[in-house]
Amino acid sequence: MGRVGLGLAVGCAVVTCAIAAAFASRSVRRRWRWGQAVALVRELEVACDTPVGRLRQVVDAMAVEMHAGLASDGGSKLKMLLTFIDNLPDGTEEGTYYALDLGGTNFRVLRVQLGGKGSMILSHKVESQPIPQELMTGTSEELFNFIASILKQFVQSENDGFQQLPDDRKDLGFTFSFPMKQLSISSGVLIKWTKGFSIEDAVGKDIAQCLNEAMTKIGLNMRVAALVNDTVGTLALGHYNDEDTVAAVIIGTGTNACYLERTDAIIKCQGLLTNSGAMVVNMEWGNFWSSHLPRTSYDIALDDESPNRNEQARITGFEKMISGMYLGDIVRRVLYRMAEESEIFLDPTKNLSVPFILRTPLMANMHEDDSPDLTEVGRVLEEHLQISRVPLKVRRLVVRVCDIVTRRASRLAAAGIVGMLKKTGRDGSGGVASGRIRGKPRRTVVVVEGGLYIGYTMFKQYLNEAVGEILGDEVAPYVLLKVSEDGSGIGAALLAAVYSSNR
Ligand code: ADP
Ligand code: MG
Repeated sequence: MGRVGLGLAVGCAVVTCAIAAAFASRSVRRRWRWGQAVALVRELEVACDTPVGRLRQVVDAMAVEMHAGLASDGGSKLKMLLTFIDNLPDGTEEGTYYALDLGGTNFRVLRVQLGGKGSMILSHKVESQPIPQELMTGTSEELFNFIASILKQFVQSENDGFQQLPDDRKDLGFTFSFPMKQLSISSGVLIKWTKGFSIEDAVGKDIAQCLNEAMTKIGLNMRVAALVNDTVGTLALGHYNDEDTVAAVIIGTGTNACYLERTDAIIKCQGLLTNSGAMVVNMEWGNFWSSHLPRTSYDIALDDESPNRNEQARITGFEKMISGMYLGDIVRRVLYRMAEESEIFLDPTKNLSVPFILRTPLMANMHEDDSPDLTEVGRVLEEHLQISRVPLKVRRLVVRVCDIVTRRASRLAAAGIVGMLKKTGRDGSGGVASGRIRGKPRRTVVVVEGGLYIGYTMFKQYLNEAVGEILGDEVAPYVLLKVSEDGSGIGAALLAAVYSSNR
């Protein structure tokens, strides 16, 4: 071989080695990145772990906080608000009643016709519409005038057999799902707005009175007979359908629960209580916090960056770990960190840095994607986050993240439910004293409502599994979770019937 030949051969070898080295290092780097991403997911899994022992600690903490909240105002993060509902509908109610439901995604008006014992709800009609954005931050007068006018149109549109005589005053159930301090069944003062509403002059006012005045002003002969929140409405409908119903839980944009408590267990406000023996208590459980809640760095970041930092959810774990407003954003935070630290996505991922861009229903779609190549995961990432070309194994990792976040959420909600059962002696832990009849636990129904629970199958499945796990085989068969739909509105109409002055 001549000099030139030798030189060429050496040169080729060097180039080949360099190329090989570059390939090798890229593949090592890729492997390392992949390993890093998997490690982040494992870390999340450990941090979000909810073994049954931990859930039982949450159950105990919930029961303890409930005691404290019932003992004194401000005694616990759980406000344990009195509702003055000491009588729930049982199917004997008769007549036509109306309800308004304000406090969720939509504002709704309803009419319910009740046929009395045996015939139950004969018919009901609902109209739903969004609250115009400008009314959410205007004055209370504007808001209540709007609501009253919609209600008037609704009443006047009755040409199907229901007609209001001029002197026939109708009773209205008003579902107003914001924290209120109730003064009686038909009056309550707004403590503060949540969910994007901010009408400062309404804070501290009697909400029922605001609506009564607006209705009078436009000649609508109606009055608020029952002022409730969505959980109480849901409990009322649940009890109407099944008298073993003792609690209601909402898991939608936010989360809350109410239950039937013995009046002698309500230490605070004894002077205001009737001697009926029981009263519905609105827990406002979104505020619940316990050191046993498995909190991660993502939750802490979510708290720190929350627009409502100084409000009800500031240091909560519970609502932010459980409800539809937040789950998608927890997943987004995890994916963003994975993208930043391990570059698992090939496309730029700046959209992942946008808070709340990944809504919970989209997260649910990805989680429940059962196609072999996870087409839906690919579609959501591409259409909503502009991340395309996501390899299958990365899509699988995304599904795993959704699973971890939802599993924790649903199992914690389950612990909250069992916490209520424990507080009322229906979890089987207290032996005969715990409401057992002839040694058997009592049949107990909890109604559950809300878009997250109803729309997200995996959430519902995990929640039900966890309730069974915590209660154990002996007690679990006696505890039923029933789905309730439209309870918040219909239930308020039923309560208007129970508390009607015409009854
Ligand atoms: P609200 O709580 O405002 O009264 P809903 O009870 O209907 O309203 O709950 C709506 C919330 O539930 C949405 O904000 C969303 O987070 C969640 N949600 C609705 N449908 C689904 C779904 N299919 N999968 C997951 N989450 C859902
Ligand atoms: Mg709702």
